[in-house]
Amino acid sequence: MSNSYKIETNCVQGAYRPKNGEPRVMPIVQSTTYKYDSGEEMGQLFDLKKSGYFYTRLANPTNDLVAEKIAMLEGGVGAVLTSSGQAASFFSVFNICQAGDHVVSSAAIYGGTFNLFNVTMRKLGIDFTFVSPDSTEEELNAAFKPNTKAVFAETLSNPSLTVLDIELFAKCAHAHGVPLIVDNTFPTPINCRPFEFGADIVTHSTTKYMDGHATSVGGVIVDSGNFDWTQNDKFACLTEPDESYHGISYTETFGKMAYITKCVAQLMRDLGSIPAPQNSFLLNLGLETLALRVERHCANAEKVAAFLENNPNVTWVNYPGLKSCKYHALAEKYLPHGSSGVISFGVKGGKLAAGKFMDSLRLAAIVTHVADCRTCVLHPATTTHRQLTTEQLDACGVGEDLIRLSVGIENAEDIIADLAQALRASQA
Ligand SMILES: *Cc1c(COP(=O)(O)O)cnc(C)c1O
Repeated sequence: MSNSYKIETNCVQGAYRPKNGEPRVMPIVQSTTYKYDSGEEMGQLFDLKKSGYFYTRLANPTNDLVAEKIAMLEGGVGAVLTSSGQAASFFSVFNICQAGDHVVSSAAIYGGTFNLFNVTMRKLGIDFTFVSPDSTEEELNAAFKPNTKAVFAETLSNPSLTVLDIELFAKCAHAHGVPLIVDNTFPTPINCRPFEFGADIVTHSTTKYMDGHATSVGGVIVDSGNFDWTQNDKFACLTEPDESYHGISYTETFGKMAYITKCVAQLMRDLGSIPAPQNSFLLNLGLETLALRVERHCANAEKVAAFLENNPNVTWVNYPGLKSCKYHALAEKYLPHGSSGVISFGVKGGKLAAGKFMDSLRLAAIVTHVADCRTCVLHPATTTHRQLTTEQLDACGVGEDLIRLSVGIENAEDIIADLAQALRASQA
């Protein structure tokens, strides 16, 4: 799926290349099914002996083109779109794990992913060990068990903004013969391409910067094609015959496409979490401007972070672009062009002042979202985390004064002016 164009060009024109007289814009194929002249031909599709469309739960031309574009942006061999980021996280692990298996996961992950792993997937019999994203090589190696099948982490974690040492996590995963799966939602392939640092599988919640306009929930799984599933006997699900497809072996039949083919042919067939083609069309509109938007999000966030750091009513600022940030060195290595538009900071005066700050904002909106083009804020202590006590809030790193700010692509001076007046009002 590689070509010689640069990432900005592939955002705009990747994957869909219309022929003479065809629509200039990628069409929405709003059809559940596809017509064939012979039953024999359709039978071959069902047996995976021929490739082609027969039912949209397994494949749809619009969904496939958008998946191909994202694979191209990440530098992978193939991708599959899912109905949400949650579905992408689930399938990325469940594709190679079953009851009795174990996964090593960074503890600094999205709350929804943590619940998925720690509660729901445990009920399926898959065990997880959570490690600090700051673990040393020794600490990481100690987390593996004989039944470990994968390592999972986020490039830039939501909401804590830790930066992953991708090379270290990949090294430890590979030393134990398992792949590293990285959720690359916040940086997007514009700011980081985890495959270049040794990650094997990448996932995204496309709901965030990729869609970019807060219109469609979605996800994607991308395969680098680099992991050798035949190097040990851990991945019989990919190397051994699949009885539900007349005994084909994914690695023998599909080579580098084994993981992603199984994900579609088995998991999508059985669990069916595909996106609507209409949503994929909207996602593609977002992808067309992704490079431009991410650049502006980061430029604005740099300015806003510098403003916050110098504001007397702000007690602390966490943004990997700041020299004062604990993750600055890792950010320089893995995110040299910027991290994302997301910043967290503390308002002087704790919960009460944070509440006044939120209520005084005029441009920035209070929403349960991050990473769309409009500047928005969330005060976890009174919203997403409001059931927790002060002690529990501190334990999960979400203080009562913490504001999560997602800097949009409006004019930076307007964003800063709004924050400045709201910070003044917070102290009144
Ligand atoms: C939002 C998010 C998810 C979950 O995605 P949905 O599209 O909301 O299901 C997973 N990982 C990260 C890093 C996220 O920010």
